Amino acid sequence: MTDVSVIECPGCGFPQSSASARNCEQCGNLLIVQSLTFLDGADEKSVRIHLKNYRARLKDDPDDCASHIGMGICYLTLKLYDRASEELAKAVDLAPESGDPYYYAALALLQGKRPRVHTHSCIKKVEEMLHAAEELDGTKHIHCLLWAAVKRDYYDFNGMIPRPPSVDELLSRASQRERNDGELQCLERLLPRECWQGLMG
Ligand SMILES: [Zn+2]
Repeated sequence: MTDVSVIECPGCGFPQSSASARNCEQCGNLLIVQSLTFLDGADEKSVRIHLKNYRARLKDDPDDCASHIGMGICYLTLKLYDRASEELAKAVDLAPESGDPYYYAALALLQGKRPRVHTHSCIKKVEEMLHAAEELDGTKHIHCLLWAAVKRDYYDFNGMIPRPPSVDELLSRASQRERNDGELQCLERLLPRECWQGLMG
């Protein structure tokens, strides 16, 4: 029987001696992914290895927030949005003071579709998540940009006036923040192109 608690490097395949290793003992590859950028260009096989590793870690410690975030990000990459939502909801419960899980949870709720096709209650939830990410973090360019895209696509289409902050306010906030092109490209790919027209400078 294979030992499910052995962490294997998605890069070189080396089995790690410790289940809590953060970097591969052999090649130094990052084993705990906390941002979409780290999975950019990864094939499905290595994303699946990441998932297997997180499951092994969670067997040891079911409340390991980093593993729930990691799984959520893997599922987002695989477009398994309901599973991503489940994992990210757990991460939000375990680390309610950290902004990123809320941002990823908002992305999972959008399911890769335009905001305008969602119900009002779904968009309300997405906005609550992005509002929380802003309140708790308030430093990320991509958080504001996603919120602006959601508001513009949903409220303009439905002829509704959004509650503050306005799209302009969010874009102005975004323009004052440091921009990470890798993260921006990952975000851009998770929603249809039409959502970004005029927003991605
Ligand atoms: Zn390795």
